[in-house]
This record gives sequence, structure tokens and C-alpha cells, in this order.
Amino acid sequence: MTVDRTESAHWFERAQTVTPGGVNSPVRAYGSVGGVPPFLASGSGAVVTDVDGNEYVDLVCGWGPLLLGHAHPQVVEAVREQAAKGLSFGAPSTVEVELAEEIVSRIAPVEQARLVSTGTEATMTALRLARGVTGRDRIIKFAGCYHGHSDGLLAAAGSGLATLALPGSAGVPADVTAQTIVVPYNDLEAVRAAFEAHPGEIAAVITEASPANMGVVPPAPGFNRALADEVRRHGALLVCDEVLTGFRTGPAGWWGEEQAGRGSGGVASAGWQADLYTFGKVIGGGMPVAALGGSREIMSHLAPQGSVYQAGTLSGNPVACAAGLETLRLADAGVYAAVDRAADEVVSLVSGALQAEGVAHAVQRVGNLFGFAFGDGAALGWTGESGGPADESQVKRQEAYRYAPFFHAMLDGGVSLAPSVFEAWFCSAAHDDAALERIAAAVPAAARAAAAA
Ligand code: PMP
Repeated sequence: MTVDRTESAHWFERAQTVTPGGVNSPVRAYGSVGGVPPFLASGSGAVVTDVDGNEYVDLVCGWGPLLLGHAHPQVVEAVREQAAKGLSFGAPSTVEVELAEEIVSRIAPVEQARLVSTGTEATMTALRLARGVTGRDRIIKFAGCYHGHSDGLLAAAGSGLATLALPGSAGVPADVTAQTIVVPYNDLEAVRAAFEAHPGEIAAVITEASPANMGVVPPAPGFNRALADEVRRHGALLVCDEVLTGFRTGPAGWWGEEQAGRGSGGVASAGWQADLYTFGKVIGGGMPVAALGGSREIMSHLAPQGSVYQAGTLSGNPVACAAGLETLRLADAGVYAAVDRAADEVVSLVSGALQAEGVAHAVQRVGNLFGFAFGDGAALGWTGESGGPADESQVKRQEAYRYAPFFHAMLDGGVSLAPSVFEAWFCSAAHDDAALERIAAAVPAAARAAAAA
């Protein structure tokens, strides 16, 4: 290791004494890339600094929330102002209303939003609501899509299509996942088969608007629209999970990009809407806020108006909402243009360097979300539009072993990436020329390390 991370190593040891694996969310432990995770002390714009004083250009961006970069001065000021007035009320406050108004104004099918604290709560509540509204119990999810860690969504595909899912984690009862049907992503036929195998039993299909939790896997052109039609035909509800894509891929999330003709395959994917949407990440600007939203009619089934229960001591927390509101208010066309430009540049730097070293790969990209899959797509049987993997089974068929050396060369070169090949890369509006130059300087050695793996 060329970079001194003595302090981080010390803290990682202390952490492992008092916290399982030393972390509060598993991927942070660097299990799939090895080594000591830098303990971060501060962040500013595109750069984070660890407890040893090492600086990294950050391409994790808090796993998505930091659309404006770290510690944007106006967001920090909004938090400071709100915090001085009180940290939590457990009573209605104006900033919650303003944040909901901001969400409703940007996503036409969302007439009302309920604010919660995590994406896990948002999707869990959306499915409870879908079940309450339809009076049905089963749900369909896609293999490789992540919707948080509630029991029914920690489900792994069974041995055949349209069969009931198995628990994807110890501690999840098989009875619970038996209500979940897992089908391959981008496979409408499998969705049809599931509806046919369980007529009148399926409450909802949940999908990531554009999947980014098995690496980035673009929806095939028109897939979301065809899925919405299919779901409606069977009297079920479509839950569009925009926790990751919402207000990041564009001002109206990935749904908005498709409506504007900027989805995979262009206008072919416009003209659809989901029944429920979930948001998180960007709507909290780095603080714990998430939401579910839909039509006034569907949302009226939630307590206190309706009989579907949901609650939270910290739901709509005023300080967290202040961070999200200021972030969304600042997220104008210029911000999205800056994020898109940074994504263009990083994709071209990394892809160019990998190509120069003869490392076969596919660029997986939708809008400003992107990632890379290692290997020769033709040989590995990838069937995605741009030659990359089209579902989770194809994502797993890649030369994943090239990622750890690539990752560590980037880290030692001063660039922080997600510590797994099965994650998206994230840029922010703060990724300016200086940040991009630092990335450009680190990439050639990383590409050589990937080639040598
Ligand atoms: N849905 C999606 C699409 C996500 O990407 C995530 C988190 N990565 C979640 C839900 C869960 O959100 P949280 O981690 O805030 O519970």
C-alpha cells in the first residue's frame, strides 16, 4: 500500500470491537475488494478527506444523495438554520409541507407524498398500501433489483419461473417470501407467466425505475411502458422505485427522463405511469428522508385517513427535510447539465483507458448513472441493447476479479469508488475540471491493474 491509512486501520479495529464487522451497512466493510476502508473525516464538493488526511475525489457521493457534492454551503446553512429552531417536533412543521410540494410539483402522477426516513420504509409501506388497496397478498419483484431490507423484499429467485421465492437472508421466514415472486429483469414473458400462475392474487409489481443495484442495467426500450400495461391489465399496481434515480437522473427522476424521450430507446418508452413511486437519497440531500407518493385516491388509504398503517417518530424530521428541500430547490437545469457532463467525462476516461490496456468491458449507462461490466459480452452471452448484461444472471457472468485491483489502484491514486463491481458510480455537480483531472491522472494505472488481474 503506497498510501498511509494507519489511523483508518486503527479506527477499523476499534469499530470491529463494538460493531459487527466494524460497519453499520455491510458494503462499507470492503468485503469484496479487501483492505481497510478509509474512515472519512470531512467532505467538500467532489472531495472527501480521511482521518489520515488523504484526499479522494469521491465517486460514491453518499451512494447517491449528494447531487450537489459534499457540504454544499447553502444546504449546510439551511440545516444550521433549521437545527437552531429545534431538532425534532413529532408534530407537523412547515418544511415537511414544502418538501412534499416540491416532490409533487415535479412528478405529475404523484399528487400526494408521505415522508419517511429510509428507502426501506418507503418501499415497505408502498407494498403494504398496494396490498391494502387491492386486497391481494402476492407481489412480483425482479431478481437483482434492490428495494431495501424489509423481509418480503429480501427474496431470492426459486428454481423456476413464476415460483414462490426463497428467503435471501437468514432470519427471513419462508412464509413471508412465499408471497414474493422473483422474475428476471427485462423479461416481460416471465411477468406474464407469474400473473397467469396466480390469477387475482398479485397486488403489485415493484421495479427500480432503471436498475442500479446489480451494477447499472438499463431497461430495454419500452420495457417500463409495457410493464405498466401488463400490470394494469391484471388489476395490480405498479410500484416504481426511484429511491436511487429520483431527482438524480433528471428533475423528474428516471420516469421524467422517459417521458421526455431521454429513456433507453428514446420516445418509445414515454406515455406510461406507475401507481406508486418511492423516493429517497436526493430528497434528503444527505440526511434521512425518503417518501412514497401516488394519486390522492390511492394515498387516501394510508392512516389517518385510511386503514393502511404507517408511522414514524422521525418521519418528516424538520432538519432532514430542510436539507432535502434546499437540495431540490438548487437542483436546476444547470446542476443536471453539470452532473451529466461529469458522467460523460468519467465514462470516456475509464472506457478509453480500459480499451488502451485491452480490457474487454461494457459501459452500462442510463442518463448520468453508469457502471462498467468486465468481459467480452459476445463470449459471455450478454444481450443488453449496448452489448452489456441485461439481467442479474448476465451481470454475474463477468470478469469481476478485475475490479478489486482496479478499485485499489484508483483509491491509491486518490479516487474513491464504490467497493463492489455490482454498484453504480455517482457524480455530482461539484465534479468540476479539477476533480476530473484528478480522475484522469488515476485511471491509467487502474486500467493496467485490471489488465494484469
Ligand atoms: N430502493 C433502491 C432503488 C435503492 O437503491 C435503495 C438503497 N440503495 C433502497 C431502496 C433502500 O434505501 P435505504 O438504504 O435508504 O433503506
